[in-house]
Amino acid sequence: MVAFNVANWNLDVEEALRVSEERLRLAKQAAGLGIFDYDIKRNIVYWDQQMRKFWGEPSERTVSYEEFVARIHPEDRAARQEAIDCAMNPAGNGEYRAEYRVVNTANGAERWITAMGRVYFEAGQANRLVGVTRDVTEQKNIQKKLQTQRDEAESILKQQVAARTASAIAHELNQPLTAISAYSEVALHAIHNDDLDSDHLIRALEGCVEQAQRAGRSLHELLDFLQKGEVVTERLNLNEVVHDALNIVRNDGHGGFHVTLHLQQNLPAIQCNRTQVQKVLVNLFRNADEAMRAVDLPALTVSTKVQTMNEINVALVIVQDNGPGLDPVMAKRIFEPFFTTKPTGIGMGLAISRTLIETNGGYLWLDPDSRPGAKFQFTLRFAS
Ligand code: ADP
Repeated sequence: MVAFNVANWNLDVEEALRVSEERLRLAKQAAGLGIFDYDIKRNIVYWDQQMRKFWGEPSERTVSYEEFVARIHPEDRAARQEAIDCAMNPAGNGEYRAEYRVVNTANGAERWITAMGRVYFEAGQANRLVGVTRDVTEQKNIQKKLQTQRDEAESILKQQVAARTASAIAHELNQPLTAISAYSEVALHAIHNDDLDSDHLIRALEGCVEQAQRAGRSLHELLDFLQKGEVVTERLNLNEVVHDALNIVRNDGHGGFHVTLHLQQNLPAIQCNRTQVQKVLVNLFRNADEAMRAVDLPALTVSTKVQTMNEINVALVIVQDNGPGLDPVMAKRIFEPFFTTKPTGIGMGLAISRTLIETNGGYLWLDPDSRPGAKFQFTLRFAS
């Protein structure tokens, strides 16, 4: 028969308990955890040294539940209590999780605490809540900093979008307003002239009306596009759109250059938004005119043709001028919003043009090797 030594057995158990407690203490310390045990019936909270440190409590005494709660930030008490009430519901699973701030009464410092625990029931009644807490103040501070940075970045982005929208609107209005102002001067001059030329006056006023209506249409389309991002397309004869754009440029007083047209006859129809493609062409012609005014050879060549790109047939439009062209440094920047070399330029024309062509399914680029002058090209898809 094996002799049973109670003294030795007690020593073994005590040693095992001591080792287990030591392990728990080390794990708790490594994880920075505080432990609490809320005796619901007695209304007392037992807590360890780490918990007391979180709560800024110097003495080792246990506290009543009310004293324990008094250090929790008033704004966080209700949500925390709700989590406890929920965990105490015998119909639930007894799990408790909460996040709240604890205010150190000695120095007013706030610490963010995350708590998790479990409610134990006796005869269907909650009688203990045991759990752990962790100080997550550093994490919260980093989160807050990141959020502030995100908010700042968002606000800068909003400002940029607002600035670009305003510039796009200014770009739409700039030309018609200049033209209206010029037509109005002509009209005033005609009225003040002793022998009033009514035909002259009528043409000037018609010009005003037409420009004002065009500006209104452009603005509506721009706003529609910004709000809905939808483009209404139709089957178009690209050569006709080129003619229309040239007429607009001439009427705006930018038509002083000689144009050589190489338009491919029987070009299949493209499927695009008429005003948008027209706008791009007007912008390219206007830029060409402004660049060529600086030199003696005002010649603009415009051509349209069918080109095969990536084994797909697309319409290609080439707008080449005879002006000073662009040096490689400038060429890299011209599609950037707000890039301009003109004293009264806005620098949005090419940025908007590229977006419009891309919206219509094509590409717009500058041929970097063309000499002399600048050679812009864009593609558009044919209607199927
Ligand atoms: P803006 O005309 O208001 O300056 P754009 O975006 O239309 O804005 O043009 C940006 C810049 O690109 C112009 O300021 C000019 O320096 C350059 N650029 C555009 N087209 C030409 C061209 N055909 N020849 C030379 N430079 C050009």
